[in-house]
Amino acid sequence: MSVSCVMGRKILGFLFALGSLMLGTGVSGLAQGVSQTKVLKLMGSRFEVTAVAENEAACWNAINAGIAEIQRIEKLISSWDPNSQTSMVNRSAGIKPIAVDQELFDLVARAKKVSKLTDGAFDISYASMDRLWKFDGTLAQVPADSAITRALALIGYQRIMLDGESTTIFLQDKGMKIGFGAIGKGYAANRARMVMKGMGITSGLVNAGGDLIAWGQQPDGSPWRIGITDPNNREEVYSWLSINDQAVVTSGDYERFVMIEGHRYSHIIDPRNGYPVKGIKSVTIISPDAELSDALATSVFVLGEDLGLALINKLMGIECLIVTDDNRLIPSGKLYLNYYKP
Ligand code: ADP
Ligand code: MG
Repeated sequence: MSVSCVMGRKILGFLFALGSLMLGTGVSGLAQGVSQTKVLKLMGSRFEVTAVAENEAACWNAINAGIAEIQRIEKLISSWDPNSQTSMVNRSAGIKPIAVDQELFDLVARAKKVSKLTDGAFDISYASMDRLWKFDGTLAQVPADSAITRALALIGYQRIMLDGESTTIFLQDKGMKIGFGAIGKGYAANRARMVMKGMGITSGLVNAGGDLIAWGQQPDGSPWRIGITDPNNREEVYSWLSINDQAVVTSGDYERFVMIEGHRYSHIIDPRNGYPVKGIKSVTIISPDAELSDALATSVFVLGEDLGLALINKLMGIECLIVTDDNRLIPSGKLYLNYYKP
């Protein structure tokens, strides 16, 4: 049996699938076929795509199609790529509506729904803050309050105008900007799974930089097992979750933060005050949908442990595990009941 750390460089270091997942060209010839895994960098993160199929060639066909799908999505939603539709929308903020693909339009519509659900804790127009809070190592001091106040005025999902008839997106005010950092990887994972399933792959796993979705089971027929590392002891698994057709998504990336004068600033911004969120180290969400899990993980981060937990506990079929800055582990009501397998 081989163990592969699917989680990569994620905070907690910790979600990983154990079992017949193999890296590179490894093949496991078990009852229900073989599995193959490709690890590569996509959307600026470490991705891992696994397929289980009757033979090696079928695995690779599906893996390659899944990867092509992720690359296609990256082109559409990237706000770094000046040629993406997203960049066009951003450049035209306060000027004019931009006609976009139905797919992008729908993604924004779903993002706005999450904003409503979370009372604005999740907001893709947080991105006006990108110009101030830079997490690429260039930020030497905390941005001035006055600059934050100005950028804050440009956040507001209610001012992301969608016109279904013309399929246009219009950011109402000049300087507004949207970004899919908190939902794009989950969406890509969902789509890669859909493409692979469409090719007849009944079992597989896509780990999009810590946003993981698994379907079917491992080649030996056992469920995918996801380990959550104990934040107090990175060498130890805190608990094992057995999943089947579920997404397990973690927010809180230890690699993306800045240290300024001894303080750690996370890359998740509170859209209500324009400052990086404090208090939570990571949030893991389990639900059948990687995109929703992704969006909710970020949302719980912003809402904080009490409001975040209350939100998850009232949503059917969605569970979470919060790790606080002081290393407390807070599970939602039915997390262990539904998923814990010692
Ligand atoms: P991770 O990158 O650790 O997987 P997330 O899924 O939470 O974490 O995504 C964080 C990214 O989401 C940030 O880097 C930024 O691009 C974007 N973001 C930050 N704050 C918010 C927010 N309040 N609402 C929506 N997106 C946000
Ligand atoms: Mg997220």
